[in-house]
Amino acid sequence: MQFDSLGLSAPLLRAVADQGYTTPSPIQQQAIPVVLQGRDLMAAAQTGTGKTAGFTLPMLQRLTQSNRRVSPNQVRALVLAPTRELAAQVGESVREYGKYLPVKSHVVFGGVSINPQMMAMRRGLDVLVACPGRLLDLYNQKAVRFDELEILVLDEADRMLDMGFIRDIRKILALLPKKRQNLLFSATFADEIRELATGLLHEPAVVEVTPRNSTAERIEQLVHPVDKGNKIPLLTHLVKANDWRQVLVFTRTKHIANRVAEKLEKEGVTAAAIHGNKSQGARTRALAGFKDGSLRVLVATDIAARGLDIDKLPQVVNYELPNVAEDYVHRIGRTGRAGAAGHAISLVSADEGKLIKGIERLIKQTIDKQAVAGFEPSRETLDAIAKGIGQPPRKEPRDPHEQRQPRRAASGNKPAAAGGRSEGTAPRQGQGRPAQGGNGQARAPRARRPAEGRRRQGE
Ligand code: AMP
Repeated sequence: MQFDSLGLSAPLLRAVADQGYTTPSPIQQQAIPVVLQGRDLMAAAQTGTGKTAGFTLPMLQRLTQSNRRVSPNQVRALVLAPTRELAAQVGESVREYGKYLPVKSHVVFGGVSINPQMMAMRRGLDVLVACPGRLLDLYNQKAVRFDELEILVLDEADRMLDMGFIRDIRKILALLPKKRQNLLFSATFADEIRELATGLLHEPAVVEVTPRNSTAERIEQLVHPVDKGNKIPLLTHLVKANDWRQVLVFTRTKHIANRVAEKLEKEGVTAAAIHGNKSQGARTRALAGFKDGSLRVLVATDIAARGLDIDKLPQVVNYELPNVAEDYVHRIGRTGRAGAAGHAISLVSADEGKLIKGIERLIKQTIDKQAVAGFEPSRETLDAIAKGIGQPPRKEPRDPHEQRQPRRAASGNKPAAAGGRSEGTAPRQGQGRPAQGGNGQARAPRARRPAEGRRRQGE
């Protein structure tokens, strides 16, 4: 199938051709005709499937077909995304695909000054890509209105729920006109997603392109059992001995991400950590360095890494296993994209025996376990892994070097300082600190909901 058989207009086809794409991906083949018809859509698709074009292309076509002029501060299509990185990437796609169309678009997220965003809203927008917290801040400042809204997209809805955005999403939904087109994208159709979809979508078309665990099957996976204290030397050895030039390393916590990056740097391997305590500038610089090859190792926590668009990553390392087995599938999904071979290595210590068993159960595969010469683990580590016992502590250890955000009074709508906590970095409940929105306002801890059982600590 070719793009021109999907019913897309010439300016969109031209923009697609400029990207060098000839064949629509499965999610695009299924989603584009449905969205063009004006129907609601519920789609199971992960990053890497081409989902962004799957909703952006038909959305742009519908907006330009009806050719309405948007009023000041109004928005015709709203895309909600969980993290700044994802929002920025979606915004970039809207600009790319809409470059031959008269489309006004903008991206807003927390952690940066709100004033330029308020200015951008003034002229009215055809497409606004937003993280939920900052969008509500803008609404409260009367900078954005939704009377002319025609299309709503929830991108990575499962992650938005995981990150505790459900309240914000419900608040936003209550502000939107009843008559609109709704598109929901999620990596999985977990129960909470179905519940959200029930109240949101009207007779949706349902498309599912990546069965939950298919990613795991395309990727060469390996476990290196290792004693906990030997992980950094082993990682350094692997990077050097294999001459890895671009490797994404996952840790469970920001603290460990920093430590791993620092140690690698000391060993002469260029590395940077990317996580919620890093300023937007530092995150953008690290990602750019990683993409252009000047940084060999990017060390990331799950949420920071989510949605990063890095094509055909050759190597992923789980320095620590995630607490939630499904995150393992998301993590290793960063490698071996678009049919290219990918490798995922997990360094597993005695306290992770239970986690690796849980992952193997989820992916219905036993992962090969090979000790590395010179880093052979103790009997205890091997036993814990073989028996599937041992679990790491749930709480992130206190990091004396960690930037702490000052608690602010719940008044005013001052923009958060760069590096302040905001979308994509919202702390999970149970960390003993109140969540803060992108505007720096302290929010009351949320009531416990079933979904919170799946949330992780340490972001
Ligand atoms: P996404 O799943 O939207 O994050 O897209 C993943 C990557 O696939 C992005 O780098 C896109 O630019 C790329 N992509 C999207 N559609 C296609 C296509 N039809 N053919 C090849 N690559 C594509």
